[in-house]
Amino acid sequence: MQLLLPVVGLSLSGLAYATSSSAKASATTTGYLSTSSGTLQIPDGTSCACKQLAHSLPKSVLLPGSTNYTTETVDKLWDIRADLSPACVFVPNTAAEVSEAIKIIGSCGAQFAVRGGGHMNYPGANNIDAGVLIGLTNLDTITVKNDSVEVGPGLNWYQVYSALEPYGRGCIGGRMKTIGVPGLSLIGGFHYFNNKHGYAMDNVLSYDIVIGNGTLITVNKTSHSDLFWALKGGANNYGIVTKFELQTYSVPNISTTIQVFNETNIPYFLDAVCEAAKLNDDDPIAAGMIATVTYNATTKVAQGSVLGVQEGVSIPPSQFANFTKIPAVERINNVTTLKPWADTLDSPKQMMRVQFSHRTMKPDSAVLYSIYQAWKAAVDEIADVQGLYPTFVTNVISATSVRPAKTNGVGNVWGLEEEPLVIFQLSTGWDLAQDDLRVEAWSRQLVEHLHGINKNLGIASEFIYMGDAGEWQDPYAGFPAENVARMREVRSAYDPEGVFSILSWGGFKLGL
Ligand SMILES: Cc1cc2nc3c(=O)[nH]c(=O)nc-3n(C[C@H](O)[C@H](O)[C@H](O)COP(=O)(O)OP(=O)(O)OC[C@H]3O[C@@H](n4cnc5c(N)ncnc54)[C@H](O)[C@@H]3O)c2cc1C
Repeated sequence: MQLLLPVVGLSLSGLAYATSSSAKASATTTGYLSTSSGTLQIPDGTSCACKQLAHSLPKSVLLPGSTNYTTETVDKLWDIRADLSPACVFVPNTAAEVSEAIKIIGSCGAQFAVRGGGHMNYPGANNIDAGVLIGLTNLDTITVKNDSVEVGPGLNWYQVYSALEPYGRGCIGGRMKTIGVPGLSLIGGFHYFNNKHGYAMDNVLSYDIVIGNGTLITVNKTSHSDLFWALKGGANNYGIVTKFELQTYSVPNISTTIQVFNETNIPYFLDAVCEAAKLNDDDPIAAGMIATVTYNATTKVAQGSVLGVQEGVSIPPSQFANFTKIPAVERINNVTTLKPWADTLDSPKQMMRVQFSHRTMKPDSAVLYSIYQAWKAAVDEIADVQGLYPTFVTNVISATSVRPAKTNGVGNVWGLEEEPLVIFQLSTGWDLAQDDLRVEAWSRQLVEHLHGINKNLGIASEFIYMGDAGEWQDPYAGFPAENVARMREVRSAYDPEGVFSILSWGGFKLGL
C-alpha cells in the first residue's frame, strides 16, 4: 500500500536522509571554534568546563573533529535546524558522572544544553553553539520489573516496547519509534492509550535526577513530593533525569487500523476526530490515533489518514467506528503487538528543516474543517518554498485522559479540566536555511489568526503542548497561574543558583 507520510518526518523505515555539514567544527587553542557557518568565540566558562571535564572524565568527553562529536551534535537530532556546534560534548556513562559534570559546569558558570532522543525541533532546545552539550546516549540501561520498568534517558520508545514485549506488557510513551524517553516523559506524552491511563508524565512512578548543585536524588510520591509533581510536565527546568521508573500494563495484543481518505471525505474525517475527543466512558477501552492531513501544493492532492491503535483483538477496532464508516481509499485492520507496530513508524533524523506550531480548541467539526481549508489555501501561498512538506496534524484530549491526574493524588502541571479538546498543529518541512524566517512567520501568523477566530467564537483553549509548539509559543501561559507559581517555588527550592534556568536556557524554560 502506498501511504502518504501522514506526519512530518513519519515514514516507513529506511528513507534516505540529508546530512548537514554545520557541525563540522574544530576548536583552536585560542578560544575560537571554526564551524562551516563561521567562527564562534568560546566563552571562558565553557573553556573552563571542557578542560575540567576532559581532565576528570576524559573518556566521556568528545571534542570537535572527532567522529562521535558529529554523531552527538548532528546525527542524533531530528530537525536539521537544531544542528549546532558545542565546544565539547560530554557523554556520561553513569549518573555519578552526570553529577560530577553538573558540579563542574556550575562552578565554571558554563552554558550547556541537554539532549535525550533529540526530537525537540528547534535550535537550542537540545544543542548549543560554543557551550557544553550533555548527550545522554550511554545512559541506556533498562530493567523490567513486575508492573514497572526502569529506563535510562538514552533510550527511545521502541527500545522500551521491545524490552516489554516478551512479558506481554506495554507502557505510555511515544507513538513513533525513535522519539526519546526523557523529553516526551518530561513534557507530557501523547500515546494511543491516554484515554485510559493518562499521559506519559502521569505514568512515571519515580525519577532519579541530578539537581543544580550536582546532587543525585530519587523523587517519587513520598520523597521530594513537591518536585515529583513539578516534573509531571515541568520539562527541563529542574535537573537532568538519569532514570525513569514507568508504570507498565498488560498489553498482550493490539488491534490496529490504517485508513486513508481522499479530499472529499476530509469533512467526515475531521468530524470523526472531534467525536474521538468527546468519548467519555466510565471504563474506557484504551484507544488512540495519529490523525493527519497531508497536502501536496504542486499536485493539489490532499489526503487524510488515521493510524489507530486499540487494546485487545477486536477487528475492526471498535473505537474507530466513526472512521470506519467513511469510504476509504485504503483500509487495513490487523491484530499485532506494540513492538512491530512501533517498528513501522520511524521518524528519520536529519530529513528536513521543520517548523511546528499549534493551537487548541473545543471540538467543533465545522470550524475545524474551515481551519483546514484556511491552512490549505495558505500553503498555496508558499508553494514555491523548496522542499515544502506541509501536514495538518490533530491530537485529541478527552475528559478520560485528564481523569488519572485528577484522581491519582499527584496531578500534573497542566491542570486541565475534564473536557474534550482538539489540537490542530501545522507541521511544515522545507529544505533551505534561507526560507527559515519565511516559513516561521507564515506558520506563526496563520496559527495565531486561526486561534483569534476561535477566541471570538468562544471555542479557543489556551493549552499548548510543548512537544508540538513553535519556539515562540509559551506553554506555561496555558497552565493555571497557581501551577506556574508553584513550579517556580519548586525551582527556587531545588535550584536556587539557577543552573537549569540561567546556564541551561534552551527548550521551553519557565520564565524568571
Ligand atoms: C516526529 C515526531 C513525532 C512525535 N511524536 C510524539 C508523540 O507521539 N507523542 C508526544 O507526546 N510527543 C511527540 N513528539 C514530540 C516529542 O515528545 C518531543 O519532541 C520530545 O521533546 C522528544 O523527546 P526527546 O528525548 O527525543 O527530545 P530531546 O530533544 O532530546 O529533549 C527534549 C527536551 O528535554 C530536555 N531533556 C532531554 N533529556 C532530559 C533529561 N534526561 N533530563 C532533563 N531534561 C532533558 C532537553 O534538554 C530538551 O529541552 C514528536 C516529535 C517528533 C519530532
